[in-house]
Amino acid sequence: MLNDIERTLFHEQTILRRLDELATQITADYLGRDLTVIAVLNGSLFFMADLLRRIQLPLRLDSISVSSYHGGRQSAGVVTFEQASLPDVTARHVLIIDDILDTGLTLRAIRDRLLNEANPASIRICVLLRKEKPRAHELEADYVGFDIGNEFVVGYGLDFDERYRNLPFIGVLKPEVFSAPSPST
Ligand code: 5GP
Ligand code: MG
Repeated sequence: MLNDIERTLFHEQTILRRLDELATQITADYLGRDLTVIAVLNGSLFFMADLLRRIQLPLRLDSISVSSYHGGRQSAGVVTFEQASLPDVTARHVLIIDDILDTGLTLRAIRDRLLNEANPASIRICVLLRKEKPRAHELEADYVGFDIGNEFVVGYGLDFDERYRNLPFIGVLKPEVFSAPSPST
């Protein structure tokens, strides 16, 4: 797996130091409020676990599963919700956590559906990574770990064809990995 990586963007210690800062900010912002975190699966799993353990507030944790990418590197352009019902967040302050803000399609669909159907008191968005590029779907993240260039990254939850999520750091794959057939294991 490590042989497939061309370059490391963020080492594990760099990520965790940044999460200390994000968690401090989130803890201060939500002091005294009823916080519900909604993690967008699967990409945010590692980020969510490390971030939430640094937030010093009582909170509820829910998750939501959507698909906008069907393998590979291209967005399908449509967001499909995997579960019929939304988490109950009536009158609660919601913080949506996702791995990466790319075109904005996914997070905008989730935010709009919660706003329209779930009556939250407020909704904010927290992403580990934000790609610096013009976004097809206008959306601002309230908390951002790191800004990155417009390139495809893997690790620390982020996959290519469901692989590389368990890398402890964030990196860029070698170009030949994209053209190679997926291994059966
Ligand atoms: P968006 O809807 O903002 O275009 O895309 C969001 C989703 O696309 C992310 O949650 C993630 O699953 C996937 N995605 C976008 N950019 C990348 C990337 O550079 N690497 C990986 N592994 N996934 C990405
Ligand atoms: Mg994702």
